[in-house]
Amino acid sequence: MRPPSVDALARSLVDTGLPHPLLVAAARKAIAEAASDHVSDHHIVDRARQHAFVSKRAMLQPVINATGVLLHTNLGRAPLATTTEAVYTNLELDLVSGERGSRHAHAASLLAQLCGAEDAIVVNNCAGAVMLVLAALANGRGAAVSRGELVEIGGGFRVPEVMMQSGAHLVEVGTTNRTRLGDFTTALNNPTHNIALALKVHQSNYRIVGFTQQVSVAEMASVEGPVVADIGSGLIDAACPWLENGPPIWLEGEPAARQCLDAGAALVTFSGDKLFGGPQAGIIAGQAHLVRQCAQHPLARALRPGGLVLGAVQQVALAYLNRNPQAIEFWRMACISPAHLQERAEAIANRANHTTAIRPTPTTAITGGGTLPGVEIPSFGLVLDGNHAAALRAHSPPVVAHVREDCTWLDLRTVAPSQDEPLTQALRAVA
Ligand SMILES: *Cc1c(COP(=O)(O)O)cnc(C)c1O
Repeated sequence: MRPPSVDALARSLVDTGLPHPLLVAAARKAIAEAASDHVSDHHIVDRARQHAFVSKRAMLQPVINATGVLLHTNLGRAPLATTTEAVYTNLELDLVSGERGSRHAHAASLLAQLCGAEDAIVVNNCAGAVMLVLAALANGRGAAVSRGELVEIGGGFRVPEVMMQSGAHLVEVGTTNRTRLGDFTTALNNPTHNIALALKVHQSNYRIVGFTQQVSVAEMASVEGPVVADIGSGLIDAACPWLENGPPIWLEGEPAARQCLDAGAALVTFSGDKLFGGPQAGIIAGQAHLVRQCAQHPLARALRPGGLVLGAVQQVALAYLNRNPQAIEFWRMACISPAHLQERAEAIANRANHTTAIRPTPTTAITGGGTLPGVEIPSFGLVLDGNHAAALRAHSPPVVAHVREDCTWLDLRTVAPSQDEPLTQALRAVA
């Protein structure tokens, strides 16, 4: 029996919406497998469709995040709206003078305003921000860090390794659980260390409890040399002036850019896509002469973001300045009341159920993304018996849910109201 032609097989898959070369690849793979496995024509068609489906699933696409993890690293951390129009921008044009401008003039100046800093620049991510600061300010010199803050954030960000790559020498001070101001002054007074700066790294994704002591930014700033605070999570201001009711209780203890700078940090670094709620980016804010040193370092060119990212950072910064948390999807989702989520859960359950398989239930959401470990946000969602994770992921749009104790849990805090209908359809299909 002759196998079907590659072209005919590929053409039978046009309804998948994939471009022709990808369909040809799927068809070729199915035919090659059929030759070795002796499968029927009918199965070749099925397999080709399966391969096409797999390559479609591999593409970047919107998903419904029903995990209740607001900053889910696998799901791109903070959710973000984008526009798709093809336009030029004044990325590096000064519209007033008509001269060449700086890409750091737009979003970065708004960020500086937001955190109460003299100046700021935006790079690709916070790892890049820390690396650039160390390379620009401490290359060939010592950088003092508490042993309790030599953290690994995940995805390969390890403070000692970033330090080594930057050309700065790591000078460890104190112990894992206790570091005192005296440990910093001793290091600073040791000429062999040639300390250029002290780095305070937010522990982000873990806590040390028990017999502990840490040195605050204010204490560190009381001794010689600039203090750089890598707060990572990107809370702009602990007072949350953009929220009508002030900071939510789950935010307690989280370091914020404005307060670190007020306490005397010369620079702060943080991510754009954590609690800031923007695109993947890294922000360096603080004293103008130090920001300038970072901007002029050759690495700054390698770490600079494009206009899309800078535009998105600007949009989020404007929302903060306008005190409009509704325009920052992370804050909108983080602040919805559980009662409101309960109403939506009940409506979805009513529409999705032929039986009572899908039950509204209280849940707990978390911020995630390596921020606020152990902190829970009361939430509401749905639960159904059995493990439906794979079936929900296979739905279009894919739904990502948690499985615990042989039940599938969906948290509505991370689901946009506009996604309630597709979520209902996905649940109807699996229940
Ligand atoms: C998350 C985090 C980083 C890394 O940020 P990316 O934007 O993912 O590169 C660095 N430092 C701290 C303290 C963090 O929390």
